[in-house]
Amino acid sequence: MDVLIVEDEAEIAALIQLYLEKEGFTCHTCGDGLQALALAQTLQPDVIVLDLMLPGLDGLEVCARIRQGAGPKDPYILMVTARGEEVDRIIGLSTGADDYLVKPFSPRELVARVRALLRRSLRQGGKSPQHHSPHFRVDLAERTAQRLNPSEPLTLTTLEFDLLATFVGAPGRVWTRAQLIDKLWDGDFYGDERIVDAHIARLRKKVEPEPAQPQFIKTVIGVGYKFEDPEPGDSLTYSP
Ligand code: CA
Repeated sequence: MDVLIVEDEAEIAALIQLYLEKEGFTCHTCGDGLQALALAQTLQPDVIVLDLMLPGLDGLEVCARIRQGAGPKDPYILMVTARGEEVDRIIGLSTGADDYLVKPFSPRELVARVRALLRRSLRQGGKSPQHHSPHFRVDLAERTAQRLNPSEPLTLTTLEFDLLATFVGAPGRVWTRAQLIDKLWDGDFYGDERIVDAHIARLRKKVEPEPAQPQFIKTVIGVGYKFEDPEPGDSLTYSP
């Protein structure tokens, strides 16, 4: 697994690199937003640890551009911010970060977040290969998802894919945020439960004909979320 560490404070970058390399990750570092974009293209890392405040382009912009220019691999992006208040911006803007950490964080915590990914991909390997519903097909082995009727491949981040797979695998089940966090982060989550809402909002934009009035991923007020898929005969209109 390759990790790109984007951090302009050399000491912090070196510390992150030290801990991740001890865990067997191959690390590359850079301290500039524009350079980070170029490296993300050439290296195709599995994970990007991305500082928010950077020279060149800031972390939010880097994140957004990486998500727009989807390469062959869609990296897991862990955003790092120096201030707690920025978390609202990261969550609110739905920029495409999969997770975030607030400085100062312990290197162990960072390593735990990155390792949660590895475990997730290993876990997926042992499961039944596909989940179907009338409008979606999710292939757990290939980690690809399709919208059906009309058929269209979905471009999802790691966490969006895991969320959709979780939902399509259990239609009608009501999930609390805590249950979804447990399922997606496998006990390695330390942050704010609202991150779930941000991922749901992004997933809805990709799978719902009208994200503001979701037909598939429904909010269960006061509880959490559930996935419902109407029968294929029901009329659905997708906006172009
Ligand atoms: Ca910085």
